[in-house]
Amino acid sequence: MTIAKNLDKILSQIPSSVRLIAVTKKKSVAAIKEAYDYGIRDFAESRVQEALLKQEDLQEYEDICWHFIGHIQTNKAKKILENFHWIHSVDSLKLAEHLDKLAMKNSISPRVFLQVKLLPDPNKYGWEAVELFQDLPTLESLKNLKIEGLMTILPLGLSEYECLDTFDKTKETAIRITQESSLRLKELSMGMSNDYLLAVQKGSTMIRLGTVIFGERD
Ligand SMILES: *Cc1c(COP(=O)(O)O)cnc(C)c1O
Repeated sequence: MTIAKNLDKILSQIPSSVRLIAVTKKKSVAAIKEAYDYGIRDFAESRVQEALLKQEDLQEYEDICWHFIGHIQTNKAKKILENFHWIHSVDSLKLAEHLDKLAMKNSISPRVFLQVKLLPDPNKYGWEAVELFQDLPTLESLKNLKIEGLMTILPLGLSEYECLDTFDKTKETAIRITQESSLRLKELSMGMSNDYLLAVQKGSTMIRLGTVIFGERD
């Protein structure tokens, strides 16, 4: 009941072109089913073990699109490629190269985001702008990955102005990369429970929401 109410409210605030991804880490399969019954088809998890257990329980929900949003250890990469449709958290060149190799071996072309941090943030993974532009030639050569856009997680404690500015810079970075390389970055995965309205103002195409849909996590 509350999940449906929360979703009603969120969907009334955002354009229908923005894809709402329900982040279900630490939430139950029952909660996922409730959001599914409401009509949500995009779900995100950040831990492989937890996600695979839930996916097993949800096998007959074949039209769920699964998104992976957590940091990826190399030894988990294969499982993630096999069980997720989108990977938002490609956060280093080394990981991108590893995923590309695995994708080639498995004859698949996973859709991925490059995770960036345009403000320095020691607690977050991802490319800073300068490194990203340095790595572009190599990224362009990873032909087995469909690099669709940029993903970002803002540091805690920013003002509204700083959030807007950083989302804007993320969008500008995607545009610049698209102009200056062979990559076509059309998607922007940005916006979480406390900043999604600002992210949408700045052109986010996918918002990743947990708390505002399902309540606080333990
Ligand atoms: C947990 C998480 C979210 C959702 O966070 P909320 O603040 O609960 O909306 C979004 N993106 C990533 C990468 C996360 O780890």
